[in-house]
Amino acid sequence: MLSGKTAIVTGSNSGIGLAIAEALAADGANIVVNSFTDGSADHAIATRIAKEHGVEAVYLKADMSKGVECRDLVERTVARFGGVDILVNNAGIQHVSPIEDFPVEKWDAIIAINLTAAFHTTAVALPHMKAAGWGRIVNIASAHGLRASPNKSAYVAAKHGIVGLTKTVALEAAGLGVTCNAVCPGFVLTPLVETQITDRMAELGLDRETTIRDVILEKQPSKQFATVEQIAAATAFLASDAAAQITGTTLSIDGGWTAA
Ligand code: NAD
Repeated sequence: MLSGKTAIVTGSNSGIGLAIAEALAADGANIVVNSFTDGSADHAIATRIAKEHGVEAVYLKADMSKGVECRDLVERTVARFGGVDILVNNAGIQHVSPIEDFPVEKWDAIIAINLTAAFHTTAVALPHMKAAGWGRIVNIASAHGLRASPNKSAYVAAKHGIVGLTKTVALEAAGLGVTCNAVCPGFVLTPLVETQITDRMAELGLDRETTIRDVILEKQPSKQFATVEQIAAATAFLASDAAAQITGTTLSIDGGWTAA
């Protein structure tokens, strides 16, 4: 379905990004796996994906907190594969703290990685997609792109920002075969959320099960985590030809959170 296409998935050595890389490879796309580390385990992920799905896959290190490296990631992909057809802006970090205590460096890092990185990668990838007459940009936003929670000022600001960026890029690319959409997961059990569970257990003196049900999933009516595979399947759908007329929208996968 996506054979011959090339996909960059930022932040794809873990969690949701890794599942997205797997799903796009399963649909036949060549894959650029990315993170900011450069260990043998990172390259092994690309090697495994290539072998399991019969596609080409490489690991390219690029720190999404640095604009130059974001832009360079896209240029290196084009140099390696001859183009970039699918861009999934997924890399993200979290920090939880009341705004008056929110460390400035955490604010800067969250805005840089969760929002500004997508500006840089999109700015370089979009001309290639427009020239090819086909492209898919999927931004992994969050329920926090549509709703706020206390103590997550930077994350909520960045995720609301990326929803706005998504709509703007969709309008700039409309009619040219290029779509741009945001996926908005509720809570998904990944390392990013695992940290929040252990922090809240320690803070509130609750066991893991109670913390997950009553604290972490408080706003998620299904009381179930979304899975990385569900987020990946939605992303793969948005990358497909069936989604050619879906652009500038948000797709919530949040167990009903934003219905309320
Ligand atoms: P994760 O911690 O498992 O993965 C984050 C990925 O981003 C990792 O691959 C990490 O290496 C990468 N990354 C972090 N900083 C980077 C940097 N400077 N440069 C390059 N890569 C970097 O977390 P996840 O839950 O899989 O998060 C993926 C995305 O999904 C994030 O944008 C997150 O905000 C979003 N999201 C997650 C949830 C959830 O509940 N887990 C919910 C909504 C949205």
